[in-house]
This record gives sequence, structure tokens and C-alpha cells, in this order.
Amino acid sequence: MGTKQFKAESKRLLEMMIHSIYTHKEIFLRELISNASDAIDKLYFKSLTDDKVGLNKDDFAIWIDTDKEARTLKITDNGIGMTEEELENNLGTIANSGSFKFKSENKLEEDNQIIGQFGVGFYSAFMVAKKVTVISKAYGSDKAYRWESEGVDGYTITEDDKDTVGTVIILEMLDDTDDEKYGEFLDEYRIKGLIKKYSDYIRFPIKMKVQHSRPKEQTEEDKAANKPVEYEDYIEVETLNSMVPLWKKSKSELKEEDYKHFYTEKFYDYNEPLKYAHVKNEGMPSYNALLYIPSKAPFDYYSKEYEKGLQLYSNGVLIMDKCADLLPDYFSFVKGLVDSEDLSLNISREMLQHDRQLKVIAKSIEKTISSELKKMLKNEREKYEEFWKAFGMQVKYGVYSEFGMNKDKLQDLLLFTSSKDNKLVTLDEYVTGMREEQKYIYYATGESVARIEQLPQTELVKDNGFEILYLTDSIDEFAIKVIAKYKDKEFKNVSADDLGLETPEKKEELKAKEEESADMLKELGEALDGKVTKVVLSQRLKSHPVCLTSEGEITLEMEKVLNSMPTDQQVHAQRVLEINPEHEIYGKLKAIAEAGDKDKLTKYAKLLYTQALMIEGMPIDNPVEFSNLVCELM
Ligand code: ADP
Ligand code: MG
Repeated sequence: MGTKQFKAESKRLLEMMIHSIYTHKEIFLRELISNASDAIDKLYFKSLTDDKVGLNKDDFAIWIDTDKEARTLKITDNGIGMTEEELENNLGTIANSGSFKFKSENKLEEDNQIIGQFGVGFYSAFMVAKKVTVISKAYGSDKAYRWESEGVDGYTITEDDKDTVGTVIILEMLDDTDDEKYGEFLDEYRIKGLIKKYSDYIRFPIKMKVQHSRPKEQTEEDKAANKPVEYEDYIEVETLNSMVPLWKKSKSELKEEDYKHFYTEKFYDYNEPLKYAHVKNEGMPSYNALLYIPSKAPFDYYSKEYEKGLQLYSNGVLIMDKCADLLPDYFSFVKGLVDSEDLSLNISREMLQHDRQLKVIAKSIEKTISSELKKMLKNEREKYEEFWKAFGMQVKYGVYSEFGMNKDKLQDLLLFTSSKDNKLVTLDEYVTGMREEQKYIYYATGESVARIEQLPQTELVKDNGFEILYLTDSIDEFAIKVIAKYKDKEFKNVSADDLGLETPEKKEELKAKEEESADMLKELGEALDGKVTKVVLSQRLKSHPVCLTSEGEITLEMEKVLNSMPTDQQVHAQRVLEINPEHEIYGKLKAIAEAGDKDKLTKYAKLLYTQALMIEGMPIDNPVEFSNLVCELM
């Protein structure tokens, strides 16, 4: 059979591996052992329901052999093996290397970062080997095959002999250079260190023949003659990993580093987690869990690609890599695993979804996450704010989605920027800081804090000394609307018509003014030709001439958000143009109206409306007309 070419991406990945920096190269062993362990998991899983496998739990193992003269390292497993097609598909193309997302435009440093951060799989063997040979016999097949490759030039697959089911991988190490000693990876001591570091919790024994020496027996005469003791070498098979999964160890045995190290190795995230929890639940169902809150959102977190879920083990055997049912959407950022003896092993995925035990576990996990977050908020504010930056948006979606079903559970986790020093505050902190005469929780919306601060609508509320929550994410106002009331205090948009700030006298005064200029307001409204539902005199404006607000359920911000979604339906807020009766412009308008200059009043109406749009950060209907009008008046 001729040499086959790797798929283009695989070839590039191979090149990347070959040029990676030396300190990363040691992970090849972790990758190959993890593959061996995955393969054994699969066959072990089968053996539970299929007697034909013919192996007991204790028979499964991974063996490491070295041959210093031939410069080879051999990793053998009695897992499920690969058929000819599987060798072709799994090792010939990178697409099957699950954890690796390939980016074609990477520069070399970035490549190295990728290698450091992700599981890069089988190809990592080429970081240390000039030739890789895989001999495999799949379970249920009577033929074995040999896959061979010397790197980028391609690979061959030929038939081969192998008695037992499983896989052998033989690496012929690269030649040593001045600064890269590949021969090191054949040293017993180095291998032991790597296994302890990366693969200690692998559930199957990793065995290696180790050479020891012992003193030879001496005869009585030798002893009497005081002859020096002679030593002899002997070979012993040692198990290099402790095999107890971290989550099954007792908490007192474990240090913070152990948890963090495990996280990095297991979830390929080189940023330290913000928080971890080790749960040991003895009740029904009994389970162990390790839960981690990452410090940064993965690059695909806010996309459809992101898959939430915890690893699910049944008594130490992995049954699902990402069990989505264990995490609610609003906590989808949590990484970790659950191991329960009370889950049946041979349960199908479909059945699992309806499993009562699983539901109970999921509930209790949710409680743990929630209480860990609350603890962090209370005791480690800075950390919590870091968490909030990474995942706050997800929690806010959680408040809003499912018709607000989960809002009570989540509302105390929310943070918003406050008008007081632009610091993040909780709703509880806001309400605690409310002045006695303050009726509402005030909020303002806009695309950024800077933009909101300039909104004319915020002036009056701030002048009264009241704090305002600045809502800058598009989801914010929807979440607030769903919560509706916090500790009996209603939320109030600073653009709402009744801010609860006006004294009865002021109201009277305004009413009188409005009656007096009713005709003018009506004419202004007509001039705007359906763009606004009405023009009113404002009670909230201080220095600004105009602002745009809305009446009814849909606010201007919601209109922006809803219309940016990919649906045909256009939503319109009922717009209200407010004019400041204390502003100079008010007198001018009145004079024009009294003089009966309709044409001029129309132009003023358009100008003021456009100004209001601009302040709100909304698109202008007719920029050319606006520009012409400005010039005309100049
Ligand atoms: P990943 O482990 O993330 O799937 P790898 O590149 O490490 O990616 O491995 C690719 C695939 O090759 C695996 O998914 C598996 O199907 C197969 N494979 C690798 N090593 C073995 C092995 N020792 N036994 C059986 N299959 C293996
Ligand atoms: Mg792998």
C-alpha cells in the first residue's frame, strides 16, 4: 500500500507540533496515556454487559516499555483498539482530535500557546518522535493493522499480526540536539515524574518494568571472610499511578494546588479557576463532585458552539463527557464532574434525561454553585467582580429567560454600575442606600456608562441625590422588567413619565403652563407627522432643551434591542418629545406660535426632534434635511 497524505489541516498541525518549544513537549505522554485510558474505558464499559470481552476490571492496564539502545518508547493498552478505517479516520485527520480547535492563521508564539492550553491529542507524539508506529486490533475484529508515519510526509497502513485486542504505540525518539535531549524521555525517573504530574488519577494501572538491584545472598564462609557484599539486578513491575481519582480522595488529604492542577489538566484552562468546591454527598443519591468557576470565559462561551455540562461518572467510569442536564443554563460556565454510585452504568442517554437520581443531583449541584457564588460575593468582592465581568451576562439572561421563573434565585447575584462613583452594586446595596423619601429604584439605559451620564433624563434624579443604576447590556432592561420589584421597591426608568419626584405645587405650575401652550404643543406634534405620539412639557429637564421618552410598555432601549434581532417584526416604542419649559427655547417657540408662523414652527419641531434622537444615540431619519435646516437658521 502506498503512502497516504495527511489532510491539509493535519499537516499544518503536525508542523506546529514539530516546531513547538521544548518545555511543552513532555505533554505527549499525557496525551497518549489519556487515549489509552479512553480506549480501555470503552472496552471496560462493554465488558459490563458483554461477556464475550472476557476481561475483568483488574485485567485492564497500560504498559510502558523503553529500549534505550533502539531509542524507543512503547505504550500498550488492552482497550477497544482501532479497525483499519478507524486508524485512517482517527489518525489521518485532525478533525477527529476532539479537543483541538484549529486556527489556520496562527503565528508561531500563538501556536505554542495553543499547545500549552489545549489537549492536542495524538499528534503531540511528533513533538518528540521521528517515527510513530501504531499497531492495533479492534474489539470484534480478527485482523490487526499497523499505521506508520515519519511526520508530514504522510502515513501508511498495512496488515499486521497481533494476538490480543488493543493498541501498541511505538515512538522512535528524535535525535538529541545541544539543547533538546529527547533521550531523557526514556529515563525511568523522568517517566515516573511525568506520570505523577499528569496521569496520576488515571483509573487503570500504568505499569512499567523497573530495574532494581539487591544484595546477593552471602555464604557463611564469605561472611566469615568479610567479603564485600555483591549486588544483583532484578526486574519488577511497578504501578506508577495512584489511580484514586482526586474527587474520591478525602478533602484533608488535598491541597489547593492539587485542585488547581487537576483543573488545568482536565479542562485545559491555564487560567487559575476563581473558585472550586469539592462536594461529598453521603445522602441519597450519594455522589462526589468537583466544581470549578473559571476566571475567564472561553473564547466561544457566548456562541452557539459552546456546550455546557459536567462530566458524569458512575462509580469512577466515565459515562458522559458533557452532561448538560447537570447544569442550568445560567450556570453553564461551571466546569467539573460528578461521580455517583447510584446511577446505573448501562443507562442510555435518552433514559438519563429522565433519571430521577440525576435530577436530584442536578438540584443539589445548583444549590452548591449558588451558595458558593454568594459566599464569594460576600467575602471576596474583587474576585466576584472578576467573575461578573466574565459571566454576568449569562446570569442576567437567566433572570429574564423562562418568563422569569428563576429570578428569585438569581436576583441577589446581580451587579449593576451605579451613578455613585461608577462602582458595581447589588440590588440589596442599592435599596439599603436609598433615602427615606425615595420611592423607586431608578435606572437609566444606554450603550455605555459615559453615554448614560450625558442623558438629560438623569439630571433631575441625580439632583435629588438619588442613585441611578446604569444598564449598559441590552439584556439588562429586560431582566429588570422581569424582576419588577425588589424588596417592595419598584424599578423606574429615569425616562418614565412619573418619576415620583414632583411636588404638588410644581405639578400645578406645569399643568397651567401646559394648558396655556396646548395649541403650540399640538402644532409641534402635528409638524412631526406621526413620529411622536405627543409633545409635552417636561418636568425632568434642567439644563437641556429637549429629550425623547416613551409611554407604554416598550422603552426606546427595548425598541433598539428588539429591532436588532433577526425577526421580521418591527417594534416601535411610543415616542414622546419633551420640551423644557425653563429653557430659553420654550419662549422662542411660544413667540413663533403666537405670531402664527407655522412654517418656522415646523422647522423648529424637526430640529428639536432630531436633537433628541441624537442625544438618545438613535439614528436620524433625514440627515440631509437636518443639515439644511441648521444652515438655514444660521
Ligand atoms: P481525542 O483523544 O481528543 O479524541 P486524539 O488525537 O488524542 O484526540 O485521538 C484521536 C482518536 O484516535 C481518538 O478519539 C480515538 O478514537 C483514537 N485513538 C487514539 N489512541 C487510541 C488508542 N490507544 N486506542 C484506541 N483508539 C485510539
Ligand atoms: Mg486524546
